[in-house]
Amino acid sequence: MPVGTRGTVKGLWPQQLREAGAQMILANTYHLALRPGADVVADLGGLHQMMGWNGPILTDSGGFQVFSLAELRTLNDDRVVFKSHIDGSLLDLTPESAIRIQEQLGADCIMCLDECPPHDVPPERLAAAVDRTTRWAARCREAQQRTDQALFGILQGGIDPGARERSAQGLLPLDFPGYAIGGLSVGEHPDLMYSTLDFTVPLLPADRPRYLMGVGRPIDLIEGVLRGVDLFDCVMPTRNARNATAFTSTGVVKIRNAKHQRDQSPLDPACDCSTCRGFSRGYLRHLFLSNEMLGPMLLSLHNVAYYQRLMRELREAILKGGGADFRSAHLAALRDAT
Ligand SMILES: [Zn+2]
Repeated sequence: MPVGTRGTVKGLWPQQLREAGAQMILANTYHLALRPGADVVADLGGLHQMMGWNGPILTDSGGFQVFSLAELRTLNDDRVVFKSHIDGSLLDLTPESAIRIQEQLGADCIMCLDECPPHDVPPERLAAAVDRTTRWAARCREAQQRTDQALFGILQGGIDPGARERSAQGLLPLDFPGYAIGGLSVGEHPDLMYSTLDFTVPLLPADRPRYLMGVGRPIDLIEGVLRGVDLFDCVMPTRNARNATAFTSTGVVKIRNAKHQRDQSPLDPACDCSTCRGFSRGYLRHLFLSNEMLGPMLLSLHNVAYYQRLMRELREAILKGGGADFRSAHLAALRDAT
């Protein structure tokens, strides 16, 4: 899922997202609740109508940004009180209000409020976050009124097998239509993320979608899919594009580099996106050096198309029984893709 933090995947029209192969996008509850406000989004017809995107949308609960962006004031079982990063006003989030806001925004998949602690907290703090996340999940399930939104439970537990198991035991009886794996990609080494997926994914029912939150690099997507993950979201394709960095079939391309100055070849000869079909590396470099807005737009389109093609080809490889071969074939080009 490309990320549309504030109700827009930066620099791309909905039609271009479709053209790039995107099927589902993510929007951030925290940002939209602060600005323009969930009630304003509702008055504008809800997220789909407001954004002009008729495909599926997933919203997070806002919890992750509260814990990572905002200045926390109070955190207890009832609620989390935080200071808005926009105007400093005090706001609070409860499991019930996280659901109410997401019902106003109107996405197809919505998330329970969870507590996502830093990756290096002591075991007792981790256990407390797991248990609070479970209690909050039950309250979210109870608070849900709309019947046309799939509410996902979120597993916490860091990289600790026991804590992950405890989290699954708490959430599974609530019978969510989908499950997310939270608390990864928060600073731990990728190998630890993979080994955590090795014991976490099998805890989840095979007939429900599994969503690995906030991940990641192309190689992380392949490693996650081969371990049984279905959904991912990451700002990387669009953020890196705005920083003049493109993912290509032959590795990462920094388009500002002087070697591209007179290069008439496309960004990625293996890509059939509008950027690669229509423009040269030399022109893209010129756009970035001139700070023209078309530069980030063209690279964003390509990077989203790259991610979507990678997933499409991986799906095809898995159907033919060749997932592991696909991984080995891509490993060398992807290892430096950060
Ligand atoms: Zn392309």
